[in-house]
Amino acid sequence: MAIEQDVLVIGGGLAGVTAAVSAARTGADVRLVSYKQPTLRHASGLIDVLGYTPDGEGPLVDPVAALDDLPEGHPYERVGEDAVRAGLALFDDLAGDTYEGNHTERNALVPTQGGRVKPTARYPASTAAGLASDERDALLVGFERLVGFDAPLSAAQLNAAGAPFEARGATVEFPVELSADPKVTRFAHLLDRDEAGEESQDGSVRRALAERVTTHLDGEARVGFPAVLGDDHPEDVRAALETHLGVDVFEVPMGPPSLPGFRLEDRLYDALDAAGVRIETGNPVVGYETDGRDDDLIEAVTVDRNGATVPYAAEQFVLATGGLVGKGIDSDREGVAEPIFDCHVTHPPDRYDWFEDDAFGDHRFARFGVAPDRELRPRDARGTVEFDNLRAAGAVLGNYDFAAEKSGSGVSLATGHEAGRLAGDDT
Ligand SMILES: Cc1cc2nc3c(=O)[nH]c(=O)nc-3n(C[C@H](O)[C@H](O)[C@H](O)COP(=O)(O)OP(=O)(O)OC[C@H]3O[C@@H](n4cnc5c(N)ncnc54)[C@H](O)[C@@H]3O)c2cc1C
Repeated sequence: MAIEQDVLVIGGGLAGVTAAVSAARTGADVRLVSYKQPTLRHASGLIDVLGYTPDGEGPLVDPVAALDDLPEGHPYERVGEDAVRAGLALFDDLAGDTYEGNHTERNALVPTQGGRVKPTARYPASTAAGLASDERDALLVGFERLVGFDAPLSAAQLNAAGAPFEARGATVEFPVELSADPKVTRFAHLLDRDEAGEESQDGSVRRALAERVTTHLDGEARVGFPAVLGDDHPEDVRAALETHLGVDVFEVPMGPPSLPGFRLEDRLYDALDAAGVRIETGNPVVGYETDGRDDDLIEAVTVDRNGATVPYAAEQFVLATGGLVGKGIDSDREGVAEPIFDCHVTHPPDRYDWFEDDAFGDHRFARFGVAPDRELRPRDARGTVEFDNLRAAGAVLGNYDFAAEKSGSGVSLATGHEAGRLAGDDT
């Protein structure tokens, strides 16, 4: 017999989680099924709404003010300004005091690992003391064995970019012996546990690290570390370093894998539990069934459980399977497709038109995805809604380039919130 729900959300990334919580808050009975890890773990942990226009203008000071000028079909144009605000409000509720930025609609400027400054709407509290609008001088500290964060280079880049403070960089040996290429989680767990470091008088890794950094301080009021300051107890790690150093401490967001992304994922999955959402991960949704009378109404999706196909019935469905990275959109030599429901994905027939020669050019593939109506129901090539009870959210949507616009999380929140709310209301 089919498993039955009011709303079934497919995909456990930021869009799917937001849709599931949003649907649950309408009173609906919600299940979320997801396959592999979402992109949360790879992303910086910053919640970007809109940093640049599709034409590349920016960095934008006020992302909400720029929404009116977005082209028809852009996900924000589909759902409107209120949905963007509602998605952010839901995020603020779920993230609580682990995130900052909700005091204003203006973008904050957060320094990232390469010494670039990113316009973002919400940022982990651990990065707050590092904002580029803060005029206090900063010391950036990297670790000898941690690739991906060259502190002197990042500091030089920040200075060259005209940051309103002086940045200096130093590289120190982490106070615990490590293998040649340790994982970022190794640093985080050592700091979490505060395990004995050989050169520390009281056996505290946090204290031993602070002692090494102190010798490099030259009057700076804040110190930035790569974002590896704890996985389970990041507040404790940062507070201890601040106490030992006597200055503010912040994290600089890093590339994948991302500790701020891991922490956010944990927080969001706790929120799913608290909202009463049933969660199932590890098995892919591979297809769908209609009742045979009405092909526009999905009766169930089918989940591959170790080779056995199990139907999951629901009244409403939300497709939040991600883009080309999450495999919500698939491509091969023949074309581009949405693999579960075969929703239409507009793309040039000649695959040489999918890319530009210039690596930083305007690549069509970056905007591949399903094209929904204003209620986020995917439409076919003629613009007709494909299924009455299917909505799409997040990176599976087309017509925006999240990497160029810096709009990835914002689109997931706005469309996830809207898709979940509408799905829940329709049950
Ligand atoms: C490297 C990287 C860095 C980024 N940095 C930032 C950043 O700094 N700021 C920002 O705002 N955004 C950033 N983004 C973008 C942001 O992460 C995404 O836009 C957004 O989170 C997408 O969320 P999603 O839920 O739509 O998709 P995803 O996170 O891709 O989640 C999709 C989920 O669906 C599951 N799924 C797929 N197919 C199936 C199936 N058949 N059955 C069941 N489950 C399925 C996947 O396994 C996955 O868990 C970054 C993205 C990447 C890849």
